[in-house]
Amino acid sequence: MIRNHFIARKPGTDIAERVDLVLRKLGNPEPPLNLAAVRQLLGLDLRFYPTDDNEFSMEAVSKIMVSRMHVYRRQLLLIEAIRRFDLSALYLSKWRSIFLDPRLPDKKHRWSEAHEIGHTLIPWHGNAAFGDNRHTLSPECRRWIESEANFAAARLLFLGDRFGEEARSREPSIDTVLELQRLFGNSITTTLYRLVESAARGRPIVGLITRYPSTESADDNHELATRREHFVRSPAFARHFKGVREDELFKHIATYCKQDYWGGPVGESELVLADDNGVRHRFRFETFFNHYDALTLGVHVGFARFKVAASR
Ligand SMILES: [Zn+2]
Repeated sequence: MIRNHFIARKPGTDIAERVDLVLRKLGNPEPPLNLAAVRQLLGLDLRFYPTDDNEFSMEAVSKIMVSRMHVYRRQLLLIEAIRRFDLSALYLSKWRSIFLDPRLPDKKHRWSEAHEIGHTLIPWHGNAAFGDNRHTLSPECRRWIESEANFAAARLLFLGDRFGEEARSREPSIDTVLELQRLFGNSITTTLYRLVESAARGRPIVGLITRYPSTESADDNHELATRREHFVRSPAFARHFKGVREDELFKHIATYCKQDYWGGPVGESELVLADDNGVRHRFRFETFFNHYDALTLGVHVGFARFKVAASR
């Protein structure tokens, strides 16, 4: 599972200010944010990759190729690069254009588009933001740059401080995620992610975005084994529960999820997690299935007095 990374305070403040300036110039709009208005303000264009080889004429290739790009130097056609590096989105500064893969589900377009806009707002990303550089930067540097673009995307799509204010005025729960998902017009997945990261106010909260919880190993199934799954921790959870392992937690979640499921809420339970000092805490866990992802939220409710099934 991919763990969330926290942005250092200084670049975080800088990026937040840049995004907030865009929102101010748009007149601090009400949710949901209209990304077309953001692109218009920033003079950005949105295009889709052609997916059919015939459609992808040499003229289109020459238009999209950019000097100084790795792709160009190696005389690779862009479409080959896209396939090779499996890029779902790309920003080409020469044309101020964001390219999206039309095969992505609609809900993911919004996030990918905001992520690429994020790169354009962060001046120190420069050429590093080009999708083709995924293999020329060190993994550490790549991860750092991608985390910053994701932070900018979240700050944009969830309208600066507005989401945190809305989320903190409610009890963190799957119902709150669904309500705020409708209000802000983003996917349930990104809403859960944002809620865990920004609405906790010092409370340990954890979120998992996974396949349907199961105690069986996914190692034998290629599709399951390579699926991108996320383990999202609030700052307090990341600080005090370093010993909680996501694979162990996933198995505990599976024990309370119904086995005959269709969609919607699939289970809830209280689980006990030990912090890094061995102190045991009660968390209220609930899981929701949207036919593709299982979304789990675990919220700290207090200390555990009695011995209950441990999770470590
Ligand atoms: Zn990126």
